[in-house]
Amino acid sequence: MSNKLLSEREIFFRHLALTSFTPPAIQFSKAAGIYLYTPQNRIYTDLSSGFSVCNIGHNHPAVVQAIHQQADLYLHQTVYGEFVQSPQVRLAETLINLLPTSLDCVYLVNSGAEAIEGAMKLAKRYTGRPHLVTFRNAYHGSTQGALSITGNEILKNHYRPLIPGIIQLQFNQIEDLNQIDETVAAVIIEPVQGEAGVVLPEPEFLYRLRQRCDQTNSLLIFDEIQTGLGRTGSMFAFEKYKTVPDVLCLAKALGGGMPIGAFISSKKMMDTLAYDPSLGHITTFGGNPVSAAAACAVLEILQNEIDISASDEKARRLIDRLENFKVINEVRFSGLLIAVEFHHLNQADRALQLFWENCLISDRFLFCENALRISPPLCITFEQCHEVNKTLQLIFEQLDKEFYE
Ligand code: PLP
Repeated sequence: MSNKLLSEREIFFRHLALTSFTPPAIQFSKAAGIYLYTPQNRIYTDLSSGFSVCNIGHNHPAVVQAIHQQADLYLHQTVYGEFVQSPQVRLAETLINLLPTSLDCVYLVNSGAEAIEGAMKLAKRYTGRPHLVTFRNAYHGSTQGALSITGNEILKNHYRPLIPGIIQLQFNQIEDLNQIDETVAAVIIEPVQGEAGVVLPEPEFLYRLRQRCDQTNSLLIFDEIQTGLGRTGSMFAFEKYKTVPDVLCLAKALGGGMPIGAFISSKKMMDTLAYDPSLGHITTFGGNPVSAAAACAVLEILQNEIDISASDEKARRLIDRLENFKVINEVRFSGLLIAVEFHHLNQADRALQLFWENCLISDRFLFCENALRISPPLCITFEQCHEVNKTLQLIFEQLDKEFYE
């Protein structure tokens, strides 16, 4: 059949691979700041930031300009790591200046999962050890390696055999840390577990983890793909939680909407990927110059335009008095990464429906199905937080009526 007879929505369902059978399948034609617009000019407030990608807001003019400028010069020269490409160099330099001196070498990739894959390989290569330690309900990506260290059996079951040598511990269980021994190449952890439904590290936990890694000479890898770049109220969550990792993984917000990721370590560590044999890790598109130029602009905006330190206060404004509603079990947050957890799954289902009806974009977490995420762009103003809170109050009032009267 000719596609001319089909609407774009129909083609989406017939000819694009689906990730579930129930996508919202809404269509937006443009986006700016915290808003997305339908072709009929209905305005939605983005409380998800495209899953923590649009931290600086949608279509920031400086990012768009950086993309245009770079696109006029060149889109691609050659595979990563061969030629000196100015956007990559500028990006690495900017990142290094934001980080402790021990994190002084940047490997640019295309996505979060690729940053994780690179970090996993780096740990094995540098230490020569076989085991990796991860945590229950952790999410690190969907490729085979990243899936192997993801802490949810249901997601993994159909894709076995995955990579061997993975030890899974319980997040926040200090006693479990004794299972880290001299066979462990690295411990990979989200300092705040995102897809588990915003699970915060208990005081001491990350500190004791760092201590144990130092005792066993295992590397500590922080997956800050979701928590990094301002999301949790500091440029990197490791600053807020005062624990410096040996390897840092970034992606999502780094490109301001363009695909790019990075794993960052010491130069000494990273050099092991380049010899015996050389080309230990290679990528054609990693650090794409247009994405890298966009990322430079993103870092500039995060440093000079957005008050990241106001994120906790903005979060409090957004969730003000929500805990009084009967449908709500708990609200957890770190900066503008917020989980609103309901008592029952059907309450979360209905809440999501009401969010959409009220033009608020939210979504679920992978491993906490009775919670909804609220993670707006960090450029949201206090005034806008107040407006969103008013709508949330109305939604939860209705939910209390429906479920408890
Ligand atoms: N790590 C974390 C903590 C994530 O939240 C995600 C994505 O949601 C990933 C890794 C994977 O990133 P990507 O989807 O870019 O592969």
